[in-house]
Amino acid sequence: MTKISIKPISIKSKIVLVILLVNIIALLLAGLIFIIYDKSVFLSSRSEELSILANMIGNHNNAALIFNDRHTAKESLSSLSVDKHILQAFIINLDNDTLAKYKKVKLNYPNYKSPDFKLDTVIYTDKTIIIIKPVKLYKEIIGSVYIESDIKKYYERSANFFFIITVSLILALFIAFLLSTQLQKVISRPIVNILKAMKDISEKNDYSIRIEKKRNDELGKLTDDFNQMLSQIEKQNLALLLAKEEAERSVKIKNQFLANMSHEIRTPMNAILGMSNLLMDSRLTNEQYKYLENICTSADNLLVIINDILDFSKIEAGKIEFEKVRFNLYFILMKINSTLQFLIKEKGLSFSFHIEDNVPDYLTGDEIRLQQILLNLAGNAVKFTLKGNISIRVKKINESKHTVTLLFSVADTGIGIKKEDIPTIFTSFTQVKSDSKRAYGGTGLGLTITKQLIELQGGQISVKSEAGKGSTFTFNLTFEKIVKIPTKQSDEKEIHLIKQPTAKAPQDINVLVVEDNEMNKMLAVTILKRHNFNVDVAENGEIAIEKLSSGNFDAILMDLHMPVMDGYEATNYIRNNFEDAKKNIPVIAVTAAAIVGEKEKCFASGMNEYISKPFKADELIEKVLKVVLKNGK
Ligand code: ADP
Repeated sequence: MTKISIKPISIKSKIVLVILLVNIIALLLAGLIFIIYDKSVFLSSRSEELSILANMIGNHNNAALIFNDRHTAKESLSSLSVDKHILQAFIINLDNDTLAKYKKVKLNYPNYKSPDFKLDTVIYTDKTIIIIKPVKLYKEIIGSVYIESDIKKYYERSANFFFIITVSLILALFIAFLLSTQLQKVISRPIVNILKAMKDISEKNDYSIRIEKKRNDELGKLTDDFNQMLSQIEKQNLALLLAKEEAERSVKIKNQFLANMSHEIRTPMNAILGMSNLLMDSRLTNEQYKYLENICTSADNLLVIINDILDFSKIEAGKIEFEKVRFNLYFILMKINSTLQFLIKEKGLSFSFHIEDNVPDYLTGDEIRLQQILLNLAGNAVKFTLKGNISIRVKKINESKHTVTLLFSVADTGIGIKKEDIPTIFTSFTQVKSDSKRAYGGTGLGLTITKQLIELQGGQISVKSEAGKGSTFTFNLTFEKIVKIPTKQSDEKEIHLIKQPTAKAPQDINVLVVEDNEMNKMLAVTILKRHNFNVDVAENGEIAIEKLSSGNFDAILMDLHMPVMDGYEATNYIRNNFEDAKKNIPVIAVTAAAIVGEKEKCFASGMNEYISKPFKADELIEKVLKVVLKNGK
């Protein structure tokens, strides 16, 4: 069905139309009243004329009635022919016989049904007036006179009036139209001005515009109110702007605080974890080993919480970025298996995973975040399951030329979640209240972060759960397909490279550790020395530059935040002021901040690698060997 759009009538036209309509109604009403009045005036004056005439004829024919003189009566009636509107007339005697008659036209006698000729009567019909006048002699009725006249004269007058009224109506309407088009401006102009101002405001978003007030009536008040409303909006906008700036400032401060706090916590955490791991390798009594194991577990838990808070603040600030790297899904699930293995065994649970055959082995996407999502869900599954098993299933639900969408389900046979609690579990810092006294630990942030990480990558997460029976968390994510699948050979080559990274033995590699924190310095030095590297230390960038000018090094482990001269400045100086081998010495940035942009900042100032605290011993060795190998040693 086609939609007909009717253009709305403008206020100007509406005002003109209303004025014209009022005029038409007023004129028609006046004309009608006049025509009705004229009719009644005409009828009464005509009937008076006819009555006088009938009286005169009656008086004149007294003798004729008494003596039944038809000739005289007829003669007297014939004088009526001077009035061309008289149609017929009769003189009737007491026996109701017609003494004489006058007929202008042929009409049925009388043109009135059974009139009582002895009563003084006036009858109005559609087209005529009938007058019946009794003729009296000494108060005694001796007969009557009947006169019937048409009212053509009235219709002629009416036609003339109608013509005059029509002409005056047209004339009045024309004048009213001319006047109203001018006069409507008095009403419409302020309204049109307000409309124009509104359009300007919405187009320019400028609430400082005001409308000039030109009058004191209701429209002037409307202008005043409109201006007042604009002032209020302007004030509110200003308040909102200030509040927005304040909120942005607080978010910045919060993020800065979180970055600083994370840095401050990660630095000692690096020392605690590193030292504990080193201590694990030393000779310990069983009791000492147990204590140390507890320290390691607590430190690991603490690190998870710090990472959660950092992730949460990054997501809130919209600063999270997703990487696109090639990864193997099977390896990820294996890693999750080995990470949770200790807990699974301790609780006597079983763990299985299944990847359907049509799921590609290699994909491109954010491997670390996928691992984090799966670890969060599987970690929760282990945490909230007392007996039974935990399983992860991966199946393909969609595929296009370049992408593949996978559905992951993480199922457990644990305590489950009550129906009414399900909507709350994805809310930050929310944990379901446990019926039993058992405490499960956690921050209530894991699922919030998981949901956000999935949704920011275009996926969705849902949960099916029954209290006491278990839960299944399901999510979908889309990954890019890898066009060229790596051969087994190239995989092997990579592993080979890591195992035999350099022609140089570690004892021939000189590493300069630039670090101001005593604990961390000690940790890095101990790890490197244990792996037979030659190590020298510098407390800040300035000392590092001095040492580099006088000595020979193969790599620098550079802390970023140090007093006197920080890591960025020192690297910048080396890249711009040294020559040849020293100018190009590999620099590995060591940082605890782990905030978005820091990695890029490190590379921009000339560093070659990046390692965040707390790091594992293997990770450090691998990175040092990698940069030395790349540099051609
Ligand atoms: P937490 O750090 O407390 O585990 P999460 O955001 O990961 O925080 O989970 C929020 C809450 O959701 C948990 O405290 C728990 O009550 C409930 N929950 C999450 N996963 C499961 C599960 N697999 N089984 C039962 N309850 C769960």
